[in-house]
Amino acid sequence: MKISRELQAWFLSHARSLPWRETNDPYRIWLSEIMLQQTRVDQALPYYERFLRRFPRVHDLANASRDEVFALWEGLGYYRRAAHLHRTAQIVSREMNGQFPATAKELEKLPGIGPYTAAAVASFAFGEPVAVLDGNVSRVLARLTGESLPVNSNEGQKRFRQLAFHLLDPQNPALHNQAIMELGALVCTPQNPRCDLCPLQRHCRARHQGIQNELPVKIKKKPVKNRYLHYIYAANGHQVNLQQRRDKDIWQGLYEFPLLETPRRPGKSFRKNLENRFGLPEHSLRLIKTQTHLLTHRKLHLYFWQSESLLPDYPAVPLRQAARLAMPVPLKRFLENQINNHNFEN
Ligand code: SF4
Repeated sequence: MKISRELQAWFLSHARSLPWRETNDPYRIWLSEIMLQQTRVDQALPYYERFLRRFPRVHDLANASRDEVFALWEGLGYYRRAAHLHRTAQIVSREMNGQFPATAKELEKLPGIGPYTAAAVASFAFGEPVAVLDGNVSRVLARLTGESLPVNSNEGQKRFRQLAFHLLDPQNPALHNQAIMELGALVCTPQNPRCDLCPLQRHCRARHQGIQNELPVKIKKKPVKNRYLHYIYAANGHQVNLQQRRDKDIWQGLYEFPLLETPRRPGKSFRKNLENRFGLPEHSLRLIKTQTHLLTHRKLHLYFWQSESLLPDYPAVPLRQAARLAMPVPLKRFLENQINNHNFEN
């Protein structure tokens, strides 16, 4: 408890002022927490403000179309979060009378809400004494206690959860949780933590032993997988072929050009295969751009092939309308360049 009190005192005088900390409205807190998953605070802030301007209440978000939600989300990445956000808003609005559940256990039953987000919303909005455990918190706990179990192993997760609950101040769970997360974000950083500024330095085992940079221990990540995506940019000056990604895969729900994915880099006769596959005459495709795009554990090799006629088997969308649809960032940039460079009509 003593450690938590010291942490809370530090937080009250050093915390960043962030809009989602000025409220105990579960809708706003949940929205911010979903956005902050895998996204930095400075990146998420404008999206948070834009979403709240457009959807001030959970009912507004629930009643929006999926395309509108995705378009507002564009650029934040990890689009599965946007799909879950929309679905959860619909459940809360339509089946729960607009009231978010008040416990972490119930919150976890909603789409896109894992143990961390559930604990954050339950403690920040409803004062439930549950401890949050994310990357920042695990790092602080590993160093503070000298625990060397891998943070990304099942055993490690169990142990860090125990430690997090052990340290929690049940009288002030919101303040405690925000304080330990903030310490991890600002002071106990992944590389070269700023121990001289840390309110917990007297208690910290890693600091006493000089092993701050060796903790937390992590099991090596999965190797990066290469994927080869061939996009047919079929446009006739007014319209472009697009399709929506339906599969449970990257970019689910977003719009893209007709696609062929290959297991490896294309060989010399590949263009002919591609033309056959899309029913196009020989020599009608031109490779106009290649680029790579990195995602977690994946390196995407993108090939943009131009066809000057539309493909009859795919929906055709007016070019400027296409530019307003939610698309993966590299495809959206490509389309915008095409439109700007060729000054197409509406
Ligand atoms: Fe992290 Fe250093 Fe504070 Fe320990 S003393 S918790 S290593 S910042």
